[in-house]
Amino acid sequence: MQIIADVGGIPGKDCKGFCKYCYFRKVKEQDPLGCRYCTPGTVGCESCTTGIREVKNEFIHPFMVVGSVQNSLMMGDITDKNLKVNISGGGDVSCYPHLMEVAGALNQFNLPMHLGYTSGKGIENSKMAEELISLGVDEVTFTVFSTDQKMREEWVGDTTKGESLKALKLFCESTEVHAASVIVPGVNDGEKLYETCSTLEDWGAKAFILMRFANFRNQGLILGNEPILEGITPHSLEEFETLVHNINKDFNFRVTGTPLCDPENDTPFAISKEKNSKYLDILTDVTSEATILTSSIAAPFIEKIIKRIDADDLVNVVAVDQDIGCLITQRDLKEVDLKDLKETVLIPGRALVHDKMAHDILSSDGIDRIVARGPDKLSVDGEMSGTLSREDVLKKELIAFEDLLEAINFFGVRKK
Ligand code: SF4
Repeated sequence: MQIIADVGGIPGKDCKGFCKYCYFRKVKEQDPLGCRYCTPGTVGCESCTTGIREVKNEFIHPFMVVGSVQNSLMMGDITDKNLKVNISGGGDVSCYPHLMEVAGALNQFNLPMHLGYTSGKGIENSKMAEELISLGVDEVTFTVFSTDQKMREEWVGDTTKGESLKALKLFCESTEVHAASVIVPGVNDGEKLYETCSTLEDWGAKAFILMRFANFRNQGLILGNEPILEGITPHSLEEFETLVHNINKDFNFRVTGTPLCDPENDTPFAISKEKNSKYLDILTDVTSEATILTSSIAAPFIEKIIKRIDADDLVNVVAVDQDIGCLITQRDLKEVDLKDLKETVLIPGRALVHDKMAHDILSSDGIDRIVARGPDKLSVDGEMSGTLSREDVLKKELIAFEDLLEAINFFGVRKK
């Protein structure tokens, strides 16, 4: 278990300027999206306005950061032998001005620390890495983009003259490093990616997370900020999946991709694989009729599972033109062909739509539908998957799918 020591921070502002590929770049003020936290009569709340834009998440005073960890320790299961403190924030923890002070104070709890998210831009002297390691940091998640300093200068805005990369090497040698790169076609893919992977492998990185660059609204840029980079077409999902498999085959560290795939754990939706179909026997029988409205990435996997459990006579799956379920908005619902929907519709638990708006849009053909939310997540993303065992992944997915089926039986029109 990891206790989060949230240091706050605003993307772009608290990480020494925007990386060129940052998804928070060009974010615009626009009408509230609406979400499940909004009050029944109002579209828009803190969560789906300033929260999602992360524009008010200033750095937090070190005293408060340490205090919140202390509280969690007092209330949590301190006998967990895997307990760790994850120092993380909205910007980049290496730019948090009180990082050493917080790490020093947390050191007194005698727990290992994970540097949750850093691009290394705040590491002006690699000695900082040595100090953090001596204070107990034993795990680091580092967005490297490339191990070519010039490329980091141009794309990440790294002004540390190579100190951040030296620090990454030190971290790789002494801690568990999960390196990550947003893969921009024609920039840090191809030969450049292989160079980066070779260097990381030589240094001893434990894992590498490839993140597909997104540039369009239907790839998740829902804050009026598409395109992030003019003239760049991101990898298709098939191209990206092949890339992840190739890197996994050619290098000796754990490789995962996001929004897909994990070659080892078979996520997302490991339970949709033929070899795991035996586990589906434990799921509840479907007795009611409903439509699962979901993302374009999840839909084919969910459809496969529904067929495997013989529920396709009662349940159909409809995809909207949005890659990620949690980023489905009103606009995506408006584009759905309502003829495809049954009288009960399950939308993703975290979809960014106000409940009443979702009902009104999906009932606009005159059929008064029940619109309910399914579980928050049905699978795990590449970042999470790389830290879980195969069994843990299957367990998580089965629990989530069971919740979905129970919601269908509860909200759907009973047929059996
Ligand atoms: S460090 Fe991360 S949050 Fe900051 S600009 Fe770069 S990608 Fe965005």
